[in-house]
Amino acid sequence: KAELVMVYHRLPYEEVVEDGQVHRRRPKSPNGIIPTLLSFFAGGRKGSWIAWSTHDPKSGEDFEVHTAVDAKRYPDLTAARVPLTKKDVDIFYKSFSKEAFWPLLHTFWERARFREKHWRVFCRVNRAFAERTAAEAASGATVWIHDYNLWMVPAYLRELRPDVRIAFFHHTHFPSADVFNVVPWRRDIIGSLLQCDYVGFHIPRQVENFVDVVRGVAPVKVIKRENCAPRFLTYGCAAGLDRVSRIIDVGRRRVHLGAHPVGLDVDRVRRLLDADDSRQRRRHLSSELDGRKLILSVERLDYTKGTLQKLQAYERMLERNPDLVGEITLFCVCVPAAKEMTVYRQLQTQIEQAVGRINGRFSKLGWTPVQFFFRALPFEELLSYYGVADVMWITPLRDGLNLVAKEYVAVQGIVGHPHAGVLVLSEFAGAAAELKGALLTNPHDIDDMAEVCLRAIRMDAKEAGSRLQGLFDIVEHHDLGRWGQGFLDAVAETGDSPGTAV
Ligand code: UDP
Repeated sequence: KAELVMVYHRLPYEEVVEDGQVHRRRPKSPNGIIPTLLSFFAGGRKGSWIAWSTHDPKSGEDFEVHTAVDAKRYPDLTAARVPLTKKDVDIFYKSFSKEAFWPLLHTFWERARFREKHWRVFCRVNRAFAERTAAEAASGATVWIHDYNLWMVPAYLRELRPDVRIAFFHHTHFPSADVFNVVPWRRDIIGSLLQCDYVGFHIPRQVENFVDVVRGVAPVKVIKRENCAPRFLTYGCAAGLDRVSRIIDVGRRRVHLGAHPVGLDVDRVRRLLDADDSRQRRRHLSSELDGRKLILSVERLDYTKGTLQKLQAYERMLERNPDLVGEITLFCVCVPAAKEMTVYRQLQTQIEQAVGRINGRFSKLGWTPVQFFFRALPFEELLSYYGVADVMWITPLRDGLNLVAKEYVAVQGIVGHPHAGVLVLSEFAGAAAELKGALLTNPHDIDDMAEVCLRAIRMDAKEAGSRLQGLFDIVEHHDLGRWGQGFLDAVAETGDSPGTAV
């Protein structure tokens, strides 16, 4: 039985069906948090990784629940798969989560579509996750549940296994009570999260929003802890976040809350940048730029990311500053959504129209103002673009954190140009609370975005260098390993909770 159980929507490897056979391979995007979560099992800790796997019960094929993850590296870790039909996956993961909770969490509540039928599938799938977890966990085990797709797991799990320590980490933004309370099932969700011993978010604002929501739906006492031991919280003064955590007293039990902004595997970035082909790629890109300044934008295709607004601001900047024509290039990498996600189609068309308009208005022989890539770049290649970009322009209308901002800072800090790159970051990205030193911008104000971007382009080397140094110190110190360990340490400390009621 497992001492530590990870409950994650995805397996730590990819399953690919070819010629009717299931093959596995390493995840396509290895820069996520999965390697860090796996690292907690490297020391021989008995563990289980719960995730779904598609299965058609009508196929008559046997379904194996347990599989090894990597027998050499993690001999005591087993994946325990929850069988879901393709229809369940489509409803639970692709449509319901993306149509109902994703817009709501990012404060686009008017876009949210709540369907009772889909909620019932969501609960059934969450129940299946909880039952599998209950079967795998050793007595007193720590169970770490990830993200809003699994909001209802704590409720079912607590019923089945009162003995385990339940921790939950929220990977997205958590909105204010006015927005969250739009959800028809808000009481069920909050009731479930209050079954946890620990609930973590990226930044303190998200913790405060959660506390407000809880106060509105449940009669609880909130306890504030100030100046708690640094190990209790992963962020410290260096990251510019205050050292306050909250404890919610729900009667017989206490739910601890904390802010843990996810970090970056800086050592891995360093290793990748050190490779010969990476150096060569950066040299090649610099020569292609031929002295022009590069403004870089990297994001998924999503209305939360503010891509359209950024293009409008770029157009305005060129309109008002004719001297920039031919001198700068905006390079946008926009990762398309899965084909079946129809909500993104209209946005893609609008973006394509905006790019066409700008290029039609300002292009001249040998110069295209916007280069737009509707595809994902491999992480290694992306790092080369970070390395040569003069300005990183990140303008989400709302974002839980934003890792791209940290990746840019890490690469610029490691590569070390005489004129450091400048990070322009939306005030509405969680990372803005942590990355003091970025130029902040309001993505709802096109003039402000144009002005701040111009300021970044024109920033002198001294100011850019000192800002980057401060940012790099934060990103390097609060790395991914520290995030994961800090979270687990905080969970382990939930037994001891002195504080004052507020
Ligand atoms: N990414 C990538 N290739 C691309 C674009 C993005 O590998 O072409 C990665 C990027 O390096 C980052 C992640 O996708 O690690 C995006 O994370 P972020 O927190 O910025 O946004 P999210 O997509 O999670 O909302």
